Amino acid sequence: MRTGGQILGGIDAGGTSFRCIVATGPGQILAEERFATTSPDETLARAAAFFADGPGRQAAAIGIACFGPVAVDPAHPRYGTILSTPKHGWSFCDVLGPIRAASGRPVAIETDVIAAALGERQWGAGQGEDNLAYVTVGTGVGAGILSQGKPFHGALHSEAGHIRVPRHPDDGAFAGVCRFHGDCLEGLASAPALAARWGCDPADLPDDHQAWEIEAHYLAHLCATLVLVGAVRRVILGGGVCARSGLVGRVARRAGDLLGGYEASLDVDGHAIVVPPGLGLQAGSLGALVVAASACPV
Ligand code: ZN
Repeated sequence: MRTGGQILGGIDAGGTSFRCIVATGPGQILAEERFATTSPDETLARAAAFFADGPGRQAAAIGIACFGPVAVDPAHPRYGTILSTPKHGWSFCDVLGPIRAASGRPVAIETDVIAAALGERQWGAGQGEDNLAYVTVGTGVGAGILSQGKPFHGALHSEAGHIRVPRHPDDGAFAGVCRFHGDCLEGLASAPALAARWGCDPADLPDDHQAWEIEAHYLAHLCATLVLVGAVRRVILGGGVCARSGLVGRVARRAGDLLGGYEASLDVDGHAIVVPPGLGLQAGSLGALVVAASACPV
């Protein structure tokens, strides 16, 4: 899946905000609009309106990078629908249908992390690599895997953010915050987990705080699992938490230790190939363009 220089539309449909763009790629964004995620009706109507008038009308097709869980297999009876979610009002909400009906153009949908992986592969830190994972660590923890250039999906999509990980030796008392599993990875390493464990906004923790050593431990286990189970050669660590100075490098070293030289996904120093995003906060919306390309008639 790649774009071919045509004008496409992308929607980064997040639980906090939506970002809509019309573009051919990074640096060639013809129009952009960002707004808060409110009720489904209001939010989807605003996104549809973006593509109905002005520059938005130029998009040949529209891709949606959607928060999940979401049905992304066209054969799924609820294709394009968000499934059961803690996000108030959004459970079993059809995201794709209203955009397609209002725009009259082909529309495709992917998970936010798969879309980001596709965007990073075409323009960012995933260039030249067909087997990679994109991880986001923020309100939740999610991972999207590309296997031989294609999104890796099963009955639904990967939920690698909810794997169990061994406790850091200094973190035995914290119960975790995942509403489903308590102390799964998301329950221990998401931004809300950091806030609950340390009693402050994670942004206020200094770079040399023990929090980041513990965080690196947990994220290194995810990276090692993605290498071993997903057979990826590169892991891109995105999301607000991973923007912390020094954290990605620390995770790379820890993941290399965990893998013990066993896998091909190591650099010459034995570190796992764990890198920051090349597209920053635009990975989702730009990745949605690649998703849009998959909907274009050939
Ligand atoms: Zn969980």
